[in-house]
Amino acid sequence: MTKPNGGVFHLASSDIAEAALPAPGGFDAHTHMDIMGLPVDGVLAEAAAAGIRRVVNVGCDLASSRWAVSAAAEYADAYAAVAIHPNETGAVYREQEPALAAITALADDPKVVAIGETGLDYYRDYSAHEVQQAWFRAHIDLARRTGKALMIHDRDAHDDVLSILEEYAPWPPYSVIFHCFSGDAVMAQRCAEAGYVMSFAGNVTFRNAVPLQEAARVAPAQLMLAETDAPYMTPVPHRGKPNSPAMTAYTIRFLAALKGVDTADFCAILQETGTRVFAW
Ligand SMILES: [Zn+2]
Repeated sequence: MTKPNGGVFHLASSDIAEAALPAPGGFDAHTHMDIMGLPVDGVLAEAAAAGIRRVVNVGCDLASSRWAVSAAAEYADAYAAVAIHPNETGAVYREQEPALAAITALADDPKVVAIGETGLDYYRDYSAHEVQQAWFRAHIDLARRTGKALMIHDRDAHDDVLSILEEYAPWPPYSVIFHCFSGDAVMAQRCAEAGYVMSFAGNVTFRNAVPLQEAARVAPAQLMLAETDAPYMTPVPHRGKPNSPAMTAYTIRFLAALKGVDTADFCAILQETGTRVFAW
């Protein structure tokens, strides 16, 4: 796979010292170490040095879902999410049943903490909307059967995502996560009322991300997570370089400041939410 932004980037030790979170630290709720293409032990060590002690590696297709499960088996701090990404649903069109059976089998693994990423992507629009919606429903069924969190990818599809979720209401508390939350304050309010968890990525730190920052202000702290979506979405001050789980620390610090909450207190809230969502 291509490496975004020109390849390998490691944080300097001075960066880590500056960004490192106070106890109880944080975690990266959504990352793609397989796409980063760096040795996993080094990535996790750098994250731990920044106070990021757990990562959820998220699958987008069968191969990356299998990769996530095997990395989780090998590394204590790595957890997995498995699914067919909405943009990949067209690619498995001729083999939907075996693909779903394989995801279902992977989902039983105890270190699989979520079904995702799944949802709707009307921005890239790689797959027909009906195909994306059918897979979204299949993943919802799987999440409900296994009792694992549903990790949603929603791009330019807020209304359809929300209305499909409503068909399955009521949702158990802390069971729905909007990964890389991209809504505005009104959407955040709707999610908060439904008890959905909003996971903010590095793009919330961008200077021009005013509507997203307003959403983060409106979101109750107890319904927030932080993630990298590495190697994409690198937060300020490293925007433009490849992302890595360690950089969740910057996003967590930014969100705490935005909410006017002490960083350590915000970490404690995140840890409590993480335990509820991922049951780790
Ligand atoms: Zn992702």
